[in-house]
Amino acid sequence: MSALFHRTCDANLPWAESGDGCYIIDRHGKRYLDACGGAAISCLGHSDEAVKTAIRDQLEKLPFAHTSFFTTEAAETFADLLISKAPAGLNRVYPVSGGSEAIEAALKLARQYFLERGEPQRTRLIARHQSYHGATLGALSAGGNAWRREAFAPLMIETSHISPCFEYRGRAEGETPLSYGLRMADELEHELQRVGPETVIAFIAEPVVGASLGAVPAAPGYFKRIREICDRHGVLLILDEVMCGMGRTGTLFACEQDGIVPDIVTIAKGLGAGYQPVGAMLCSAELHDTIAAGSGFFQHGHSYLGHPMAMAAATAVLRRLTDGETLRHVAHMGDMLRARLQDVFGQHPNIGDIRGRGLFIGVELVNDRETKTPFDPSLNLHKRVKSAAMDAGLMCYPMGGTIDGRQGDHILLAPPFILSADQTGELVDKLSQAIGAALP
Ligand code: PMP
Repeated sequence: MSALFHRTCDANLPWAESGDGCYIIDRHGKRYLDACGGAAISCLGHSDEAVKTAIRDQLEKLPFAHTSFFTTEAAETFADLLISKAPAGLNRVYPVSGGSEAIEAALKLARQYFLERGEPQRTRLIARHQSYHGATLGALSAGGNAWRREAFAPLMIETSHISPCFEYRGRAEGETPLSYGLRMADELEHELQRVGPETVIAFIAEPVVGASLGAVPAAPGYFKRIREICDRHGVLLILDEVMCGMGRTGTLFACEQDGIVPDIVTIAKGLGAGYQPVGAMLCSAELHDTIAAGSGFFQHGHSYLGHPMAMAAATAVLRRLTDGETLRHVAHMGDMLRARLQDVFGQHPNIGDIRGRGLFIGVELVNDRETKTPFDPSLNLHKRVKSAAMDAGLMCYPMGGTIDGRQGDHILLAPPFILSADQTGELVDKLSQAIGAALP
């Protein structure tokens, strides 16, 4: 019996021992093609020399210096590079150690901003159903998965949830994508009117919904309307790009494709590419300067903020993502992978939808393609797919998510950006094998 208290409490997980490009190799020498990066983390594969060297060099120079006493070249270089590549208007960076930490920082910054402005009555959040923003209590408050929230609900920030923008299940017969997007965005206006816009700190959403729905981008026009509504009521817009950001959708920030700039954006996962635990919150100068001119001190902090080795790794990752080639490859491979999935599964009776942007792709499993009826949740189909895929030497990220009050299953694909054309073929073959073995 293992002494390790792991995520799944599962003593039978294979032991990962080494990495080779897009593959993880276990201690028996079995190779697993990484088609999900864990959960969209390992964007540069498992043996990137430039990132490893950057970490080693920083370790030799200085492993750590506490941010109450020092800034470092590693952190300053990271912040300058990130801001130079971020959408105009986002010009301050707060580096943390992961996604949930970035969300906590965002929520507290937003609250403190309104306190400094003399609006202490703003205490509530609005978020969306079927979203995930992290495991800590603030992030869990924002998250919209009923089953994740249930046990901890009494400990949470008051949050109301509107519908996600999910065309496959939500768009009515005859409705255009644009009118569907606007109808969904208007739910925010209605919710603000219901609770009183002057009580709301922020609206938070993932531009492309990751784990909960499986790579679901918003319909056209949705986020532009959301931005207008937030502006009209002085409510901050927080975009959670922890999973969909850092090039995953083919642009460095996913929101670039929606044509809007949020007040705050959170990133993590791909930022460290799995080489270091690192995340960041970016915000506008307006937020930062209001606090700087007021109390002068953001009431927040962690021991490992801006850890030099994490900063060195993140800078090396960012250099790759902004080299002009890597994200072009993401867009190209994303199109190729979706086309191959469409060839193999496009007419499959149990595949309802293939969607996503760049190398962030969702495949929805259904019992009946015509009626979009999910499989019986007691089948735990997503778990069967995961286990069959691991048997076949493929890591993919199947999830059971709540759909229309019922349980549905999807597979999230988020392979490394170095995926080759041959590997897209291997991925689809192994996935097809796994789905075939898992279906009842
Ligand atoms: N936000 C989103 C959109 C995520 O997908 C995740 C992680 N799956 C988080 C926040 C939390 O990140 P972490 O697990 O690094 O705390």
